[in-house]
Amino acid sequence: MTRTEPVISIKHLNHYYGKGALKRQILFDINFDVYPGEIVIMTGPSGSGKTTLLSLIGGLRSVQEGSLQLLSHELYRANQKKLVNIRRNIGFIFQAHNLLGFLTARQNVQMAVELNDNISQHEAIRMSEAMLKAVGLGPRINYYPDNLSGGQKQRIAIARALVNNPALVLADEPTAALDRQSGRDVVELMQRLAREKGTSIMLVTHDNRILDIADRIINMEDGVLESDSQNVLVKSYD
Ligand code: ADP
Ligand code: MG
Repeated sequence: MTRTEPVISIKHLNHYYGKGALKRQILFDINFDVYPGEIVIMTGPSGSGKTTLLSLIGGLRSVQEGSLQLLSHELYRANQKKLVNIRRNIGFIFQAHNLLGFLTARQNVQMAVELNDNISQHEAIRMSEAMLKAVGLGPRINYYPDNLSGGQKQRIAIARALVNNPALVLADEPTAALDRQSGRDVVELMQRLAREKGTSIMLVTHDNRILDIADRIINMEDGVLESDSQNVLVKSYD
């Protein structure tokens, strides 16, 4: 892997919730980098701080202490406008797919494209349909989420996250609501699309069965990043 500029670079990051006597430290001196095209899986017990870290990386929460750079932009002390701009480089996938029920699959994806001012509606529709075909939902483009399975809905969420060709995808337990096979399909799909486009992925999971898609596995314990190892389970991707 070429060692160019990291997509994510975190140094001495701390985070706290609450104020005064209720102030509680959640993240402790987090340090790590993620490089272009890397797939990093973060594991760790519930309550260990995984979602907090992901939301900081995604610019969804303000950095309180330490340095967090995304594509060489410092998020510490970044204003809302800068955070909004930085978020345009990120695709988000959550445990619950967060699709809008009154929009079709295509419209859900299209909405993400249209956040870019400089893309016409015609082009947005074309991109959305192409992305839904890429995730295997060609025949379901005009379906509403309620008429699709859990795995299909999560594939729409993946299409929505990837349609703008983001440098980084952040996924928080994307397979949690899926059965074994659908979960596997969904992460393999993310992996394939990431490999094709050089996207970095940071994925939180409890699911041991998908660890092999990662280049690196990091483990969070009580707000401390316990280990950061090359994935010994990595298979050949050919
Ligand atoms: P994980 O994703 O690993 O389960 P979280 O980052 O969601 O962990 O939570 C870490 C800790 O921070 C937990 O103890 C949780 O209760 C607490 N926490 C999470 N969000 C908030 C919040 N908005 N306000 C206060 N405490 C929170
Ligand atoms: Mg969480």
